[in-house]
Amino acid sequence: MKCVRCKQKAKILLKRHNAAFCNECFLYYYRNQVTKNIRKYKMFDKKDKILAVISGGKDSMALWDVLVKEGYNVVAMYINLGIGEYSNRSQKVVESFASKNNLPLIVKDIKKEFGLDIYKLSKTLKRSPCSICGSIKRYLFNKVAYDGGFSAVATGHNLDDEAATLLGNVLSWEEGYLARQAPVLPQTHPKLIKKVKPLYTLTERENLYYVLLNKIEFLHEECPHSVGARSILFKEVLNKLEEESPGTKQRFLNGFLEKGRRHFQDVSEKLELRECKTCGQVTTVEECSFCRFVKICNQQQET
Ligand code: SF4
Ligand code: ZN
Repeated sequence: MKCVRCKQKAKILLKRHNAAFCNECFLYYYRNQVTKNIRKYKMFDKKDKILAVISGGKDSMALWDVLVKEGYNVVAMYINLGIGEYSNRSQKVVESFASKNNLPLIVKDIKKEFGLDIYKLSKTLKRSPCSICGSIKRYLFNKVAYDGGFSAVATGHNLDDEAATLLGNVLSWEEGYLARQAPVLPQTHPKLIKKVKPLYTLTERENLYYVLLNKIEFLHEECPHSVGARSILFKEVLNKLEEESPGTKQRFLNGFLEKGRRHFQDVSEKLELRECKTCGQVTTVEECSFCRFVKICNQQQET
């Protein structure tokens, strides 16, 4: 097997592209994909200040490293969500990468800073820890980006994530989610910062290969709450299809972005946005869920 670019011995085969690469050419391909995605969707340019969402896993660590190496103005942000030892271990990985490479990093601890506890909230509100956690993360990333004058919030979502989310949304015809699934979520309100996914054409396997080749430390374990998640089942189904027919995930996602998504646009425009009466951040109700969470946790502490 020879590298399609330099004809030396190849080290990795990417069946969906019908291409094999040596390590050096793989890194060229990887960085080229990222910059192509950024340009294609006009995600940001070198003058923009970007807030990168970092969890310590392979995808976000790859995102952080590649954006820095490509010369973008990136500040990383990590949130300690209070998920036991998993959160402590991931924080260490992220802090160690920042200090070794002398990179700017913002750390937020939801318990220390806001008194939030996703387990108490989950019990009180009878909602899953993931739905509470998701609301908190979305709120904080947007708020920090808005307050800090950032142009975009970048996440490490990859092709596997995006194809699995799309499958889940199609299976239950979630029109609102389908309208909002894209590599770029543009600013629909002055206080809602643009969200971008520069790795959306790269697979989990490619992100893993990238961090291994670059000797980037990352947290190998997944969050304990991801066990049994529907998204994992959807990924397994898509992996089976991909095995039989390489390129399935890419065709599914690209086909949706090019031909399907536009049919759902009028759904997203119907959402009425307003500002939270307590914090002023954007919400669809009177008071945003983050402010309600803080109140619930504070009340519980007092009793
Ligand atoms: Fe949060 Fe759930 Fe993701 Fe864990 S799996 S980080 S609880 S959203
Ligand atoms: Zn609020």
